Amino acid sequence: MTTLSPLGAATGDLARQVTGTVLVPGDPALADGTAAFNTAWPVRPIAVVAAADEADVAAAVRWAAARRLPVAVQATGHGLVAPVEDAVLVTTSRLSHVRVDPVSRTARVGAGVRWAQVIEAAAPHGLAPLNGSTSHVGVAGYTLGGGLGLMARRYGFAADHVRRLRLVTADGAIREVDATTDPELFWAVRGGKGDFGIVTEIEFGLVPVTTLYGGGVYFPGQAAAEVLHAYRQWVETLPEDTTTSVGLLRLPPDPALPEPLRGRFVVHLRYAHLGSAEEGAALLAPMRSAAPRLIDSVGEMPYTAVDSIYMDPTDPMPCHDRGTALSALPAEAVDRLLAVAGPGADVPVAMVDIRHMGGALARPAAVPNAVAGRDAAFSVYALGVLLGPAAGAVPAAVGAVIDAVAPWSSGSLINFLGPADRERVRSLWPEADLARLLAAKRRVDPYGIFTTGHSIG
Ligand SMILES: Cc1cc2nc3c(=O)[nH]c(=O)nc-3n(C[C@H](O)[C@H](O)[C@H](O)COP(=O)(O)OP(=O)(O)OC[C@H]3O[C@@H](n4cnc5c(N)ncnc54)[C@H](O)[C@@H]3O)c2cc1C
Repeated sequence: MTTLSPLGAATGDLARQVTGTVLVPGDPALADGTAAFNTAWPVRPIAVVAAADEADVAAAVRWAAARRLPVAVQATGHGLVAPVEDAVLVTTSRLSHVRVDPVSRTARVGAGVRWAQVIEAAAPHGLAPLNGSTSHVGVAGYTLGGGLGLMARRYGFAADHVRRLRLVTADGAIREVDATTDPELFWAVRGGKGDFGIVTEIEFGLVPVTTLYGGGVYFPGQAAAEVLHAYRQWVETLPEDTTTSVGLLRLPPDPALPEPLRGRFVVHLRYAHLGSAEEGAALLAPMRSAAPRLIDSVGEMPYTAVDSIYMDPTDPMPCHDRGTALSALPAEAVDRLLAVAGPGADVPVAMVDIRHMGGALARPAAVPNAVAGRDAAFSVYALGVLLGPAAGAVPAAVGAVIDAVAPWSSGSLINFLGPADRERVRSLWPEADLARLLAAKRRVDPYGIFTTGHSIG
């Protein structure tokens, strides 16, 4: 006969307090209930609360707080950066409402919503959200971490457009947080990410965009030096209406990929321009001639097709990643990147992603927030897949990419930080901002129950 531990028995009490589902170890539905995009980390919670509404989130937090148990939150698992063990895991995928108000040009969405749902709901009104490279990512995690999107140089971070949040804090209270109700918490949570509680609903501004001149240009990996050096000079000429990035991709021999890319090392230029097609084509022309092109998909597209710019993978996989923000990308930095991850390097680094920042990103939000890395000129991010015989070599290879550009590092974007201890997370903010964040943290989470993601502690 199985005997339940006192904690195990108490989960029955938790189940009676929520409308949603409570899963415990041994439950056959647990694997589905904890499924994440990044499968690299063990997820072994004491209990999973699949919240049906915000009252469930509050009940789960109160139950955990009464026992001083850590509380983790998951929407999609794109941002898992540590194991989830001995914690109560609140999953938000059932908080899935999306309400678009075309008059105020805002969306109000549940914490479990992915960007795809917002894009679809906003498009009929001639509006678009500030999503990132893939619409499979969750709105809440992405936005609380800043949110560096496809129109970022024109509109800034997604967090800059947040109007209001509903947040369950460690006391189990459901707080309405905006610039008037609690300006300090509103500042902290927009950029401080999951440290202050669980967001149940988020309201943010949409932008009047229906089409882009955008897509991807793929070059052979052998041309990486020409393309990257051309890129770093070209971006200096671009207006704020143009947001771009370039990736070094080691692609798997996946039959679903177009033949010229399958199993190859390629350079991928991503392009999103908000002006006319003529202007977009003229601006892109120097890069189109930087090297022979394998594929060029850049053209006028509906905003609803934006996932085709990056073509990010959507199937779960075990990833290890790390990122940094740079104050500049001089020729020497490009040479150093090529030395560790270019065509001559045999390394298990699936992607090196170099994003051009600046423009509206560099200006404070209308209602200032805690987004770190705002003043960076570029973001560099490296990712490896922990599969196959080279899996063990991934962390060192990914680390070598970020170390290569360390002389130009000016901090990091929390969404691209990768696994990091408390000190590293703290180092993202200048001293005065960190002090404000710590004060907000102490006020709403005095015992530090929300510390399983990136946390200042
Ligand atoms: C393929 C891919 C593409 C990406 N592209 C971009 C990009 O273009 N731009 C960009 O800025 N980032 C990007 N990211 C990073 C992404 O924004 C972060 O990983 C983000 O944390 C994912 O949020 P999620 O809710 O989908 O993930 P989850 O793993 O479910 O959540 C991650 C973390 O977000 C926080 N969080 C989630 N929900 C809540 C909530 N309701 N309340 C409080 N905290 C919460 C918690 O700290 C949680 O640990 C990308 C990541 C991947 C894997």
